[in-house]
Amino acid sequence: MFYKNYIGGVWVESTSGKTFESRNPAHSGQVVGEFQDSNEFDVDYAVGFAKDSFKMWKNTPAPKRAEILFRAAEILIRDKECIAKQMTQEMGKVIAETRGDVQEAIDMAYYAAGEGRRLAGETVPSELKNKWCMTIRQPMGVIGAITPWNFPIAIPAWKAFPALVAGNTMVIKPAEDTPWSVIKLAEVFHEAGLPAGVFNVVTGYGPTAGMPLVQHKDVKMLSFTGSTATGKKVATACAELGKQYSLEMGGKNGIIVMDDADIDLAVEGVAFGAFGTTGQRCTACSRVFVHADVEKEFVEKLIAKAESLYIGDGIDETVQMGPLINEKALIKVDGYVQDAKNRFAFKGGGTMVLAGGIIQEPTEDTYGWFYKPTIFTDVDDNDPLMQEEIFGPVVAVTTFTGTNEAIWLLNNTKYGLSAAVYTSDINFAMTALDEIETGLVYINTSCIGAEVHLPFGGLKGTGNGHRDAGQTMIDNCTEWKVCSIDYSGTVQKAQIDH
Ligand code: NAD
Repeated sequence: MFYKNYIGGVWVESTSGKTFESRNPAHSGQVVGEFQDSNEFDVDYAVGFAKDSFKMWKNTPAPKRAEILFRAAEILIRDKECIAKQMTQEMGKVIAETRGDVQEAIDMAYYAAGEGRRLAGETVPSELKNKWCMTIRQPMGVIGAITPWNFPIAIPAWKAFPALVAGNTMVIKPAEDTPWSVIKLAEVFHEAGLPAGVFNVVTGYGPTAGMPLVQHKDVKMLSFTGSTATGKKVATACAELGKQYSLEMGGKNGIIVMDDADIDLAVEGVAFGAFGTTGQRCTACSRVFVHADVEKEFVEKLIAKAESLYIGDGIDETVQMGPLINEKALIKVDGYVQDAKNRFAFKGGGTMVLAGGIIQEPTEDTYGWFYKPTIFTDVDDNDPLMQEEIFGPVVAVTTFTGTNEAIWLLNNTKYGLSAAVYTSDINFAMTALDEIETGLVYINTSCIGAEVHLPFGGLKGTGNGHRDAGQTMIDNCTEWKVCSIDYSGTVQKAQIDH
């Protein structure tokens, strides 16, 4: 299939005359689609339409904007199965997970539609007599969005629905590995009756299509989700232009397993966190801190669980883990594993207890970028396995004995997205909630599981204080305006003693 950019409500080819292919990670020879390799002229064209339609969309009453978004939710429900299947083919995660991805978009659409009747400010008393003060939210204008491939429709939806209900228009540049899902989102908006120019999609690569969007003078706010390395480039460019931006970046998420934990529950949680989406969630668990007294039982059960996972093409309902996104990811993940093996063989500092690795003899089900679950134990907390985002089904385990030590180890990372604790001690659970330095903390459930009405994002190297989803995305793309009316008929001067 040949796909075009969605600009001004119509499908147009890139002025570059170039296209790129997206391939099925489970069958690397299978082309999912051919997409526009866009450039700065395409971005400028899309931003122009978004800018021109801003006034009309801003002046459309918010409940009416919300009705269109509600219709988009209904269309997403109708097309959920077809989107999930196509998403598994473009991105590789198993069908149950891609259904969940679409469901996130549906949930966000309904949530944002509800917000159309709740975009409230405050009316507050004034310091002065006969003066009336209120705050109103105003949309910013054209929002630029740059999204990653691991949640192909959920993350674009987290950004788009709140931005649109608040009265902004948008240009989005999806990840080059998963453009189809965002093209589909544009089709959904089109069918729902979203006016032309309000939502625009420009596909292509980061430096050639993403950076022109970041740097475009008419993009008022840039909402980015992706790696920390790219996020820093986006931040630098935005800071130079004095532009607002929100960053959701990498993670190195950990789980603490206490000696009083339900070990079977903890094993399920760690396995789901570490091997779900083939370890490619931003919230994936890649570090485990287990109490020394239960380490043996925990590790044995985790290995058994990892070995039992059925790996293959995620379109098959029985498959539990799909491939990595592409060959580059396979080489990167294997590089970390091989380096660690060599390092530990010469210097110690860790032990490989489950040698997963690349599937060397592919079957019909595994003719793609497949990597088996890999587990290391006794890993030093400063080792690259504990510190760097590998983004694959690789887990590093280490032990602790004291509760303070467990939290210290968990916090010993430059990232701060998500964490979980398995314990039956309410006091420790409360202490952990308080002291863990992440944007998301879970007790007795895995370190994944965003809900659309909750702020999603992280501390330290993961974010810049903004959050995606929910009310916080509306905060990111609206400005507060203070409106005051003096009906005293006299000259009242604030900040002068009166
Ligand atoms: P990436 O940084 O390679 O790419 C993300 C997006 O940025 C893509 O659309 C890409 O084309 C674009 N891009 C790349 N270079 C660019 C440049 N120079 N200028 C402008 N845009 C550019 O990340 P990825 O591999 O697509 O996604 C995986 C990363 O995303 C992981 O680090 C993961 O933790 C992170 N992530 C974070 C969250 C979160 O909410 N914190 C959620 C999902 C993924």
